[in-house]
Amino acid sequence: MIDLNEAQLYRTLGFVLGLAALLLWEWRAPRHHAQVRWQTRWRVNLSLLLMNALASSLVCWLCWWFRSSLVDALWWQPFNAASRLLIELLILDAAIYWQHRAMHEIPWLWRFHQVHHSDLHLDVTSASRFHLGEVLSSGGFKLAVVLALGISLEALILFEALVLLAAQFQHANVKLSDGAEQILRRLVMTPLLHYAHHAQAVERRNTNYGSLLACWDRWFATWRAAEAVETIGVPEYQQAERLNVFTLLWMPFRRSTDFSL
Ligand SMILES: [Zn+2]
Ligand SMILES: [Zn+2]
Repeated sequence: MIDLNEAQLYRTLGFVLGLAALLLWEWRAPRHHAQVRWQTRWRVNLSLLLMNALASSLVCWLCWWFRSSLVDALWWQPFNAASRLLIELLILDAAIYWQHRAMHEIPWLWRFHQVHHSDLHLDVTSASRFHLGEVLSSGGFKLAVVLALGISLEALILFEALVLLAAQFQHANVKLSDGAEQILRRLVMTPLLHYAHHAQAVERRNTNYGSLLACWDRWFATWRAAEAVETIGVPEYQQAERLNVFTLLWMPFRRSTDFSL
């Protein structure tokens, strides 16, 4: 079995390398020019990143601790290692699709998830802009899936690494050629598809939930092409300079009748 510290090290290394490569790409070939000062957004997104990294480490440790103490489930016995890993990755990706969809469709969960959608410009740092409550609840959901289905720790580690890199790529302010966009979007979620997911309009926002594969959105009728450039963010939160870390952490608990920021 893989060592937990080693897994955390590879996860961090992948995250840092992904961040560096996409920052370079954004700098060389941005898709949109930001209307908001990058310093204002980065201060918030990177503060949340540090907070969430600690929370994610706790969740990883809990997954490790609980899963290590369980014997392997019998239903995995007919599968060889490669096909089992593939099935486990598909199960986790489908589970995360439904979790993301629930975040949009259940009002009290949306209160937490709107922190992610409140970013008024998207770049690679937006991939880290999540409320602590969402990180902990999604971690708890993943732990439940892992324990209920006997998902292996190896599959969980690989999935976590892939999702982190995919999230960085989907939020990156980078331009793909039309050909690359058309090929990629048949299989996975692209930055342009995820940009439409950040649209202000609810009917546009409640589409393109996928983390890795595009098939879940296509099968469950939430996939939507995203040709037009959209106005992004949450309509109630349009003043970037007022969206500091404290406002964001308090956002789920504000009364809906409170003033707009
Ligand atoms: Zn969302
Ligand atoms: Zn997003």
